[in-house]
Amino acid sequence: MSLTDLTLTDALAKLRSREISSQELTQAYLDRIQQIEPKIKSYITVTPERALEQAKQADERRANGEDAPLLGIPVAIKDILTTEGIQSTAGSRILEGFVPPYSATAVTCMFNSGAVMLGKANTDEFAMGSSTENSGYGTTHNPWDLDRIPGGTSGGSAAAVAAKLALGALGTDTGGSIRQPGAMCGVVGLKPSYGRVSRYGAIAFASSLDQIGPLARNVRDTASILQVIAGHDPLDSTSMNVPVPDYSKSLIPEVKGLKIGVPKEYFTEGMQPEVESAVHAAIDLLRSMGAQIQEISLPHTDYGIPVYYLVAPAEASANLARYDGVRYGPREAAKEMFDSYKATRGRRFGAEVKRRIMLGTYALSAGYYDAYYLKAQKVRTLIKGDFEKAFADVDVICCPVAPRTAWKIGEKVNDPLQMYLEDVFTVPTSLSGICGISVPCGFDKLNLPIGLQIIGPAFGEEKILHAAYAYEQATEWHKQLPTL
Ligand code: GLN
Repeated sequence: MSLTDLTLTDALAKLRSREISSQELTQAYLDRIQQIEPKIKSYITVTPERALEQAKQADERRANGEDAPLLGIPVAIKDILTTEGIQSTAGSRILEGFVPPYSATAVTCMFNSGAVMLGKANTDEFAMGSSTENSGYGTTHNPWDLDRIPGGTSGGSAAAVAAKLALGALGTDTGGSIRQPGAMCGVVGLKPSYGRVSRYGAIAFASSLDQIGPLARNVRDTASILQVIAGHDPLDSTSMNVPVPDYSKSLIPEVKGLKIGVPKEYFTEGMQPEVESAVHAAIDLLRSMGAQIQEISLPHTDYGIPVYYLVAPAEASANLARYDGVRYGPREAAKEMFDSYKATRGRRFGAEVKRRIMLGTYALSAGYYDAYYLKAQKVRTLIKGDFEKAFADVDVICCPVAPRTAWKIGEKVNDPLQMYLEDVFTVPTSLSGICGISVPCGFDKLNLPIGLQIIGPAFGEEKILHAAYAYEQATEWHKQLPTL
């Protein structure tokens, strides 16, 4: 058994008992990155010197009798999170070479807890996409089948965890970007409730939706990372001042009496039959363990995609106005100022980002604002109401993460609408500000992972961790990793 086979929880135990050092563990990851990473391309930037320096510090802290929740644990950080002194691109060529003067709060929390950063994980440009193919720095490959996408937009983070190129990772989820790549790479991914984790230093895509969250090999590891990044931050006015529970207390392997809702709208025609049967089998298992299963209805589900693809681009068009080559990143030269803006934005934004800026600008423009943006906000309230009603009756909701397993690289890049439709089961949660987790629940006949989504109410992370942990402990899916 190699050091990279250990889970985060096991590695931490061995670090605590001094059986291994963080420098040994980190070196094992750096060696594996050298070997395997060229096949996967999960990182935009690997930071070996910084990692070894942080590992040395972690070992010194431990030698001095200190301990911390992630002391000495090597992780990957999605490149949409700023890291002081290390290039942070958000997957965009418009931020090529941009070295931020400060780190995101979530990153600082990781560092204060002793985590060691191996590098910055690949992402679709500004987290727009569902496959990581929209990255300005190349596509990440799914470790289960190198010809396939890893999901997105935290595809680099998910692939790194699945391929044992990191023990855990931070991702961001605006409409599914942690849960969906988690499902497609066969790892656990949790999107916290809006306001649970500070977004300070997360390069903004859609500010009413963006959340930072963890990806890891199992539910306990995921909870350990959530524990250190959750909490109020005066630097982010949307982070809520709500006490952070001890998430390890939610990790109970039994679900007797837990009320689980199964939304009938989440089993649609046209979804991959193996996904449907795997999710139903997972629900049956929870029933056999004593959970009370009831069918529920989330009647506005169909409006999730159109609402999301108005609200998110509208917010993106505003957030991305700041990239003009003056304050951040490289500048394309031109005689006139406006020509320089145009050249910088024209040459350095990718096609999907430009499409979103145009869609969003249109939806916000005078004469269309009421018909599109305002209407979308109203329907968003209805979608949120569906969940509020459901959570009056049930503790959590179980459903698929995505209608399909990982598709072939290139299969959907020329059909943005097809790509948007893949987000049907993840965007309603995001629009409602509530939390969701993806846990492995099977494989299709091509041996591609399938994810079970467990959705909880706002600040209900304990509930989804509980249900996910109980399910995981009764199954073996999470123990399977791709052979590379
Ligand atoms: N696929 C969705 C989009 O393209 C969600 C992305 C995300 O969550 N960042 O916007």
